Amino acid sequence: MKITSALLSVYYKDGLEPIVRLLHQQGVTLYSTGGTQTFIEQLGIPVIPVESLTGYPSIFGGRVKTLHPAVFGGILYRRDNEGDVAQAQEHNIPAIDLTVVDLYPFEETVASGASAEDIIEKIDIGGISLIRAGAKNFQDALIVSSRNQYADLLKVLTETDGQPDLETRRRYAMEAFATTSHYDTAIHQYFAGEAAQKKSELRYGENPHQKAMFHGDLDAIFDKLHGKELSFNNLVDVDACVGLIDEFTSDVPTYAIIKHTNACGIASAATPSEAYAKALACDPISAFGGVVITNVPVDLATAEKLNKLFMEILIAPDYAPEALELLKSKKNRILLKRKPVALPTTLVKTILNGVLEQDKDNVTETADQFTTVTDKAPTDSEVRALEFALKVCKHTKSNTIILAKEDVLLASGVGQTSRVDALKQAIEKAHAFGFSLDGAVMASDAFFPFPDCVEIAGQAGITAVVQPGGSIRDKDSIEYCNQHGIAMVTTGVRHFKH
Ligand code: 5GP
Repeated sequence: MKITSALLSVYYKDGLEPIVRLLHQQGVTLYSTGGTQTFIEQLGIPVIPVESLTGYPSIFGGRVKTLHPAVFGGILYRRDNEGDVAQAQEHNIPAIDLTVVDLYPFEETVASGASAEDIIEKIDIGGISLIRAGAKNFQDALIVSSRNQYADLLKVLTETDGQPDLETRRRYAMEAFATTSHYDTAIHQYFAGEAAQKKSELRYGENPHQKAMFHGDLDAIFDKLHGKELSFNNLVDVDACVGLIDEFTSDVPTYAIIKHTNACGIASAATPSEAYAKALACDPISAFGGVVITNVPVDLATAEKLNKLFMEILIAPDYAPEALELLKSKKNRILLKRKPVALPTTLVKTILNGVLEQDKDNVTETADQFTTVTDKAPTDSEVRALEFALKVCKHTKSNTIILAKEDVLLASGVGQTSRVDALKQAIEKAHAFGFSLDGAVMASDAFFPFPDCVEIAGQAGITAVVQPGGSIRDKDSIEYCNQHGIAMVTTGVRHFKH
């Protein structure tokens, strides 16, 4: 294959001169884009502007220079295919046997700390396409995809008198795809890393004497509609809120109130306003200063109730205009509108001199994964309550016990050093807020090592229990349940949250 024509479009012109001179010597017709054309002309060598092929000037600030059938056709048509050759003639498309590209320096621009706008402009479009085209048609053309190949190219052109063999053309095609794949990987990494690269200074950390930063992009997840800056503790609670509410699909209105990452109230109901009222009733004392989240738009009826609560933050997928107006009446209250974007599925935490990374706990058991281990099976309404309690349990600090009825949290024991303490705390709280535990259900994040928990639960009136199972003394707990008419189901899945 004899090179008779070449298209040169290179970002950095250094090193190009000897190639241009050699090609000219070998009688090759040269085509070129703006900057490269000027460079070649300055050497006193004739060159045809690519515009005379395309009939278009370079447009949109250079975004479109070579993207045209006359250019891509010239590179891509199959020289041994009669139909292709006829079409090339019909459309007046001259062959381009050699393409020399040096791409916009994307990585360099990112590394220089350039603005996002400048970085985007350095995503080469036509150049990368020229490379792909030239590489695809290595049977008939030679593609030079980087200025690092100039020295080798000079050698090849000299030694073969401008007639590189198939093996060489295929090697250049392989190198070309290495170039494009590296280039696109760098662009992908830039886009993927951009959120993580963003950081903002927080007023302080968990306490005022601790300096703090947030590495991430909140604007990608929320529209802040009202209120002061989010604090370190706010962000931690918002994260907990989002994890919990995402257990509930938006076809059932659900409201949750979070304090120090644990739910102090959560309920699903037929209407949003009822869901909120039930969530608040769970523990109105803890709700003071809490973070509230819902899976449905905030309507005016609910906003009127919410407005009476001193809360730090409200998070919702949307707000009715009148509801938003009303809720804005408190200056510092933060109102966030959540965008429907997926969050990372891994969790990272620093410890000692390193970092722990794990998948988020994204397993939620439903009734079909329950195994009844007692004589008595839970009733339908108990099953519903057990499913609900498990969802809350997953998002509550261990050791935890969740007590619920239907779709309402009655009380929880959170972050205790023993499960018995967690249960006692939950029972005491439920009674303190006037709930009867007769017919309530209990969920535990991990198995019961002793029958003491079910004994205490049974005495309090609890009639159904869900737990992972797997303790060597499971049968002691099951025996107690059987003797006292309690239903127990196991899931086989533990949900520690430390
Ligand atoms: P020049 O300096 O010759 O005007 O432009 C050369 C640069 O433009 C090369 O880096 C080449 O990869 C790039 N290039 C060629 N055609 C196009 C195009 O159609 N769009 C974009 N964005 N870049 C192109």
